[in-house]
Amino acid sequence: MYTKTIYVIIDCLAIIDIIFTLRAIRGLRERSGRRLYGAMFSAIFAILANIMIALSPGPLFAEVSYCIYFSAIDWIIFFLSGFCMHYTEHHDIMKKMAVPAAIVMGLDTLSIFLNLVFGHQFYIYKNIRPSGVVFYQTGFYTPYYLHLAVDYIAIIVALFFIILRIVKSYSFYRIKYVIILSVLLFVILLNVAYMMFSLVLDASVVFYAVAGTLIYFCISVFVPRRLMNASISRTVDEMSEGLILFDVSNTCIYANSFSRQQFGIDVNTCDFSCEPIRTIIMALREDHTEYGETTYVKADPENDSRHYRVRYNKLSDGKGRSIGSFFLIKDETEEVYYLNKIKEAKNEADDANRAKSSFLASMSHEIRTPLNSVLGMNEMILRSTDDPEIRDYAGSIRMSGETLLSLINDILDFSKIEANRMELVETEYNLHDILRDCYHYFEQASFSKDLYIHIQCAESMPLKISGDENRIRQILSNLLSNAVKYTSTGGVEISASTAYKEDGILLTLRVSDTGIGIDRKDLPYLFDAFRRVNEKQTANIQGTGLGLAITKDLVDIMRGSISVESEVGKGTTFTVTIPQGIADKTAAGPFRLLDGSEKDYSYKEQFTAETAHILVVDDVPLNLKLICALLKKTMVQVDTADGGNAAISMCKDTKYDVILLDHRMPDPDGIATFEAIRRDGINKETPVVMLTANALSGAKEEYMGLGFDAYLSKPVRSEELEATLLKLLPKDKVQTV
Ligand code: ADP
Repeated sequence: MYTKTIYVIIDCLAIIDIIFTLRAIRGLRERSGRRLYGAMFSAIFAILANIMIALSPGPLFAEVSYCIYFSAIDWIIFFLSGFCMHYTEHHDIMKKMAVPAAIVMGLDTLSIFLNLVFGHQFYIYKNIRPSGVVFYQTGFYTPYYLHLAVDYIAIIVALFFIILRIVKSYSFYRIKYVIILSVLLFVILLNVAYMMFSLVLDASVVFYAVAGTLIYFCISVFVPRRLMNASISRTVDEMSEGLILFDVSNTCIYANSFSRQQFGIDVNTCDFSCEPIRTIIMALREDHTEYGETTYVKADPENDSRHYRVRYNKLSDGKGRSIGSFFLIKDETEEVYYLNKIKEAKNEADDANRAKSSFLASMSHEIRTPLNSVLGMNEMILRSTDDPEIRDYAGSIRMSGETLLSLINDILDFSKIEANRMELVETEYNLHDILRDCYHYFEQASFSKDLYIHIQCAESMPLKISGDENRIRQILSNLLSNAVKYTSTGGVEISASTAYKEDGILLTLRVSDTGIGIDRKDLPYLFDAFRRVNEKQTANIQGTGLGLAITKDLVDIMRGSISVESEVGKGTTFTVTIPQGIADKTAAGPFRLLDGSEKDYSYKEQFTAETAHILVVDDVPLNLKLICALLKKTMVQVDTADGGNAAISMCKDTKYDVILLDHRMPDPDGIATFEAIRRDGINKETPVVMLTANALSGAKEEYMGLGFDAYLSKPVRSEELEATLLKLLPKDKVQTV
């Protein structure tokens, strides 16, 4: 009776084990998990049948139980073989064999159950033990061995596929198949050993439970962990950074292949006192940090030195307790090399930029200086004659001089924009004035080509707009200049409209011409600097390819937009929309051009100041003469000095109301003179205006930063000169006209 009880207990334990394993297997989503599930599920039937055999009340019950037991074993083996084939990745063969194998197993199961009718496989006999306990055991006929053969064939097939995979796979993955093979062989051996004892009851089915559990443990825990560890250690060993591990007692326990090769580290001898670790540690300690980062440079006698970035950090367990430390060493030689190259390239680019700036400065200075005299003296001609023919010639000189000036300004503007130094100056302006000026400026050019210029301006345009007047002027004249330049018949239409917004207006300027037009394919490049399109037709037309680039940049700086529509041979329309403020929202009313008699180059001084006394300092006598002439009608008393020293000594004796100072003069230059005047003396607080041909980007800001009260660039315009003086002269000495 004890024997039966022990058998039943063992079987029950096996069932509990299987139930736990089954629950765990459910987590394995891959198909091999399902097969293992099938095998374990069948094992439950086998074990239950085993219990029924042990507790059989009669031979028929025992026979039925044996039928269930033998069939269940068929299906355990069926699913286990399927698992082995799937796990060893013989999917194709498995798919082909699955149905025939299931049919064979099904027939075998049927044959076993038919034993109840035909008794052709096995018979039941009673084994009465001396203790009187009855055991129902089986004796076998030949067909039973066929059933056994089927089972063994299935097992052999499974083992065959595992062995095949072991042979084919390379070492890294071989282990996972070897483990499964070992488990199966172990279970088969246990089974065989068990059967050799030929006990009265068969408890060998327990081994299926053991096999299932072992296999589950192997595929879900042991194999992945081994593979992971193997992968990590291979990855670490092959990585392109160095890794050196130390235990808590600072003994080196691991150095990957990079560290071994680059630093010749020998894991067996390495400790903190060996090189290069010692130097690295010293460098880290110098920063007073126990752990940290440093750069280690290894001198290479054959090549350049190699640069390593070394990170030294502690390793701790989940609870923050130290379990050692590690070095992570990255070879940054290439980065350092390219970084140096980039630095060199940047320095070269900076030098080139400086050279460009200084070239621009000199060019601008050298051209502006004579142009100052040309335009200034021409202004004197215009002021001093009423002869229409001479005034016409002088008008042409003025126009050409201003074209030349605008070319220089374009180049300077472009370099200003490139250097991000273009700043907007907010003033109040009347759009009608700008439209009118632009019209008169291009009137001559359009007239000579027989072109019309029509201007339309919305009557609702505010009388005074606030924004950067000069930049609006520049945008409009760039577009108008192109329209006139690239049109030979017809003319140009300018229209200005406005849309009121909450905080101002949206000013829209549209310039349309009936000119040569622009090819669709050229439109994307239209705003590129120094790029001229349609070279065939524009070759004979003067231009630098800068106008539209500057226009676009200005529009962008003013947060506006520019668009273009064009048709070759028919004409082009540029539309610019710019947000502007309102200074006086009264409607400007209808736009009208001044008639012939109003349009004149005639000059009218802005003020007179007989008692005002100013000093002009310039080393070029012509410039001194020009300022005197320009200010003649204002009746201001002008003293002149041809250099810094003369100016300084004159400032000692006379108190001036304003001093106009040139920059580039023989020693002392304008800045040194300015400093000397400001240091002490009666003119210490006199407003000083920098009047220079240096109009380079940022020049104005630089001079104002030095303490100058105003800045005027050459060629100086009479209106600007007067406006500046009007601002700086003592109010009681000035009478406005
Ligand atoms: P450019 O100094 O050459 O006029 P822009 O930047 O002002 O330089 O213009 C770039 C190119 O765009 C010009 O070379 C010209 O081919 C084309 N373009 C500009 N405006 C017009 C226009 N109104 N009609 C036809 N082509 C134009």
